[in-house]
Amino acid sequence: MTKDCTNGGCSCTPNTSVKCTVNNCANHCQDNEYCGLNSVQIGTHEANPTEKQCVDCDSFKLK
Ligand code: SF4
Repeated sequence: MTKDCTNGGCSCTPNTSVKCTVNNCANHCQDNEYCGLNSVQIGTHEANPTEKQCVDCDSFKLK
């Protein structure tokens, strides 16, 4: 395994309960497919979500 912390110095501890591939997010642990937050907020931009495209990670932060 490579070191998991390219995110702002060695601060990204992968949360193995939250897999994520969004490399553009500031909370993403860049060297592996995990989020670095302890918990994430999921939401929707639709009135009546019916597909996975309808839901969002509201914890996303542009890098
Ligand atoms: S905040 Fe959301 S989008 Fe960003 S790394 Fe975590 S799970 Fe992925």
